[in-house]
Amino acid sequence: METTDAFEGLECRDCGAVHDATTAGRCPECDGSLDPTYDYGAVDSAAFREAAAGPARGRGVGRFDALLPFPAAALPAAAEGGTPLVSADRLAGELGVGEVLIKDEARNPTGTFHDRGMCLAVAAASEHAASRDVEPLAAATPGNSGQSMAAYAGRAGLRSYAFVPSRCAFSNKAMTNVHGGDMRVVGGRFPDAAAAVDEQLATEYTDLGAFTTPYRHEGAKTVAYEIAADRAWEVPDAVVVPTSTGELVVGIEKGFRELRELGLLDAMPTLVAAQPEGCAPVAAALDRGLDAPEPWETPDTICGELEIPDPAGGAAAVAAVRATGGRGVTASDDDILESAVAVAQNEVLEMGAAGGVAPAGAWDLAQEDFFDPDDEVVLINTESGVKTPDVLRSHLMGKGI
Ligand SMILES: [Zn+2]
Repeated sequence: METTDAFEGLECRDCGAVHDATTAGRCPECDGSLDPTYDYGAVDSAAFREAAAGPARGRGVGRFDALLPFPAAALPAAAEGGTPLVSADRLAGELGVGEVLIKDEARNPTGTFHDRGMCLAVAAASEHAASRDVEPLAAATPGNSGQSMAAYAGRAGLRSYAFVPSRCAFSNKAMTNVHGGDMRVVGGRFPDAAAAVDEQLATEYTDLGAFTTPYRHEGAKTVAYEIAADRAWEVPDAVVVPTSTGELVVGIEKGFRELRELGLLDAMPTLVAAQPEGCAPVAAALDRGLDAPEPWETPDTICGELEIPDPAGGAAAVAAVRATGGRGVTASDDDILESAVAVAQNEVLEMGAAGGVAPAGAWDLAQEDFFDPDDEVVLINTESGVKTPDVLRSHLMGKGI
């Protein structure tokens, strides 16, 4: 399959073996997760910087293809990425910091950051399908990534099966089907949906689960490129990242690290992994000094998107956050929903419940004096408010509104 000039291969996080892009999933030797690697010396940093500014090469993730495995022309792209950094002045005042910027991933085609990674993952799967018998794509998902997979699979002309837990948001269930994807609703929670993929699919399939495909975190790294480009190549002090499988925080750390490698940045921001109190394996591992999270035994949070008790990228997420001198933070469901509502009421932007963990976590950090008064803080809004309007509305009703 056609790859970009700088792309070197897929390196196993566990055994270090390097495989080429024809490898569809995990390491054939040890089943570890694979990470795309590059020859950074082969990348023209000035040209990368110019492309990042847009719009000559569009605003989508394809403009960053010097640091992606596949050329822009090979992507089933729909202008994913290119999301704005929105200044949230009232929130900055409340947190007592210099500036708060919300990276609004709600403005992706299906309303979440997942579109960045699914665009790459489906591009690879499409190539694999062309060279073998066509296999369906499949993934266990709390909802958002399944909707995104269905959208991009449709673009590429591939079948897809999203396995969602019964509690998956209605909007995800509906739109997965609207995009032409098949969906199986599995009784229970996310681990039950994950177990059902192998049990119920009686055919071979390409698994697009995070850290099974090497490309979901790889797409997520473009969030870091955009933050840096939109801030004139100055790093913010901190980035607060809602964390589930680990793909987003792992991708963002990789993106900033690569920009340093190219000489486009001279520092890294401090990354914070924000999770709900009811399911916080990554934050707990960071807090306790563990190298890898222990599975969360009794997951229970209203934020279904973040209810991933045994994250596939848990160890990678812990390492990514720690490499920046960062930390984890947790917030109660009540504070998460209150924060999402407050952002909608004060800052215009609509955040789904999962996005609300970023301002809620930032609030807790501010109470602990984690920030300096002149800090510039980026909060990642991972999903659109229209994903979970019923959850946000019922929070108000719980307060008698
Ligand atoms: Zn391996």
